[in-house]
Amino acid sequence: MSKELTEYQGPATMEKITSLAKRRGFVFQSSEIYGGQNGAWDYGPLGIELKNRIAQTWWKEMTRRHDNIVGLDAAILMHPRTWEASGHVENFTDPLVDCKKCKTRFRADHLPPKNLAEKQCPECGGELTGARKFNLMFKTHIGPAEDSASIIYLRPETAQGIYVNYKNIIQSSRVKIPFGIAQIGKAFRNEIVTKNFIFRTCEFEQMEMQFFVKPGTDEEWFNTWREQRWGYYEKLGVKMDHLRWRRHGPEELAHYAKDAWDIEYLFPMGWRELEGVHNRTDYDLSRHTEFSGKDLQYIDQDHHNDRYIPFIIETSAGLTRTLLMLLCDSYDEEKVLAEKDSGGSEGAASPEEWRTVLRFHPAIAPVTVAVLPLMKKDGLAELAEDIRGGLKEDFTTDYDQAGAIGRRYRRQDEAGTPFCVTVDYRSKEDGTVTLRFRDSMEQVRVPRAGLGERIRQEIKEYKRIK
Ligand code: ATP
Repeated sequence: MSKELTEYQGPATMEKITSLAKRRGFVFQSSEIYGGQNGAWDYGPLGIELKNRIAQTWWKEMTRRHDNIVGLDAAILMHPRTWEASGHVENFTDPLVDCKKCKTRFRADHLPPKNLAEKQCPECGGELTGARKFNLMFKTHIGPAEDSASIIYLRPETAQGIYVNYKNIIQSSRVKIPFGIAQIGKAFRNEIVTKNFIFRTCEFEQMEMQFFVKPGTDEEWFNTWREQRWGYYEKLGVKMDHLRWRRHGPEELAHYAKDAWDIEYLFPMGWRELEGVHNRTDYDLSRHTEFSGKDLQYIDQDHHNDRYIPFIIETSAGLTRTLLMLLCDSYDEEKVLAEKDSGGSEGAASPEEWRTVLRFHPAIAPVTVAVLPLMKKDGLAELAEDIRGGLKEDFTTDYDQAGAIGRRYRRQDEAGTPFCVTVDYRSKEDGTVTLRFRDSMEQVRVPRAGLGERIRQEIKEYKRIK
């Protein structure tokens, strides 16, 4: 087995990623003109494209590729009894400690053991308070009265919306155990420590799939889903030596879990959780049976109408955290020769320059193709617009006619655009264009007519080279 990495291997730092994300319109601080809102971020034009693309690849992977997994979009606001049944009202707490001197607040479970034992602040050496339990659920009121009868929570996980709909789905979709329900949606947690950009935020999105199985088959399915989820990151072209499994020890298992494994990614700030795969047993459905008074047993019509409460295997990934992971994973800086267009633009010998490039898999890149006319004049801009028009239906496209062609390639590299199509004078004569590849910077001449097909093929066959 290869040795485990201890440090992030790429050139990315959180400062560089945060600055690029803002500069290029991936992610902005929420309410920035008012000084920003802690724990909340806004996704700009490139960010929302990237987020949508991650969600689409996950949805395809988890639903379209599996005949026995269906989708759901449940409401964020749920009956408050849901959260009593799920155990969140009682147990969804973080242990908090404060430094009496510098007033910094920490999660006790995130403190180095030495500081915890000696009650000493890792920032200033001051004395720490004892740990207090702090519930992470956001509480608000529904309706005009602000009393205890009107309390409602913003959901802290999407999972419960799936559990309370499990019978509806069985009755309406003809699914049979084993089957899964997938959902992507917002979740809210009153996180006290929200550093590291979008890693841990108060408002975030989850991509969860809950798989319902017969008790006794749960361990086998648990392993199957672990393999499947690992394979997903492989397909996305993530650096696999930056991923690892970590099993939860008995002391950190959530109140509902029999077994839990995290997929961790080596971020610039170290190994951190990206996704959890959990064996939630029959805990949730048993509790909902108890609290709602509804019978949530599964009736197995293929096996003598056997009745049982299914076990649930959960795969729970953060969508916004995956976006951060992909920004870090794809970020690269390299020295390259300045580029020209292959169609005959004039210029001296190419000097060397640095480029920043996001090596996204083309299937998730925010913009798939950028169309660039070599010149604005002589009908090249119109021709380029026309070519872009032909690609729009099938791909997210961009158009850029400002500045030297090399500068425009650099801008697209920084946005992670895998393909550029350059339109030059030759294009007007023979109907060919230059197709330029982001990773290799290779340029090939291709007929305009087959462009869409060629790009589709390139996406399918994409292999990351660095
Ligand atoms: P932690 O212990 O770090 O607070 P957790 O183990 O409670 O996290 P889960 O409840 O298993 O996290 O959530 C599943 C996934 O949802 C996580 O792997 C992560 O990708 C994402 N997630 C959880 N909390 C946040 C958050 N505050 N901000 C962004 N993503 C989050």
